[in-house]
Amino acid sequence: MNHFNPECSIAPRVLATDLDGTLIPLPETEANRTDLQCLADHFAESQAPLVFATGRHFESVLDAIEQYNLPTPEWVVCDVGSAIYQRVGSGFQVFEKYESHLAETSGGLERTRIEKTLSTLDGLELQSPAHQQRFKISYQSNSDSVVRLVDQVNEQLRTARLPYECMGSVDPFSNCGLLDVMPAGVSKAYALIWLSTHADFSPDEVIYSGDSGNDYAALVSGFRAIVVANGSEGLAEKVRAQLVSRGISDRFYLAVNPATSGVLEGCRHFGLIS
Ligand SMILES: [Mg+2]
Repeated sequence: MNHFNPECSIAPRVLATDLDGTLIPLPETEANRTDLQCLADHFAESQAPLVFATGRHFESVLDAIEQYNLPTPEWVVCDVGSAIYQRVGSGFQVFEKYESHLAETSGGLERTRIEKTLSTLDGLELQSPAHQQRFKISYQSNSDSVVRLVDQVNEQLRTARLPYECMGSVDPFSNCGLLDVMPAGVSKAYALIWLSTHADFSPDEVIYSGDSGNDYAALVSGFRAIVVANGSEGLAEKVRAQLVSRGISDRFYLAVNPATSGVLEGCRHFGLIS
């Protein structure tokens, strides 16, 4: 499921947000830090669900919460949508319903089966355990080989008839190739939409905020959508055009302010925060 048909009369109750470039304050931006406190106060007082949806791996989300003093979310969608964690007491637990869902949709394969199938490919190296999930097998490579390796991995998966697919990118900081192998169709948006139909809230109650291309699918899925002012070039226009074409442009808000301040501004626009 990539889209749903929103029910506009339902008041928003949930903020689902990307972290980097969105909820996390930008460096040397004092207003972002003040506005983060305002958001934190709202979620502490109202007990409204807060959801983090990020490509970061789980440990890295915990680091970000501590480093930037972020409010503690009820839910964390992480590892590019391959895992969902639920807050339980003062900690988090893997949301097993989602694990079972992915196990079912991917034919109950163990990750060792994928690793074995790909073990003959030259130039692929497994990333450290912190970057691995039951449903995300992450490799690294030389940055020059990523494109070739993604093709080879996908070819190998097709030949072995495994319902998984590979996506690749280059880490701009380390200039290292990153390859994620996950059940076909799984993404951050996929996990978030699934969660919004299996948690104690509905998709119509969700506001989603983001800043870059990997937020696009979630921004146009039908949630109320905030693009922060520092959003990547062309993103806001693309999201707006898509929502206009479906007759739900009232679900879109382009913030005047960047990052955290844009999120707060959008939450006020949609009436989540007064
Ligand atoms: Mg981002």
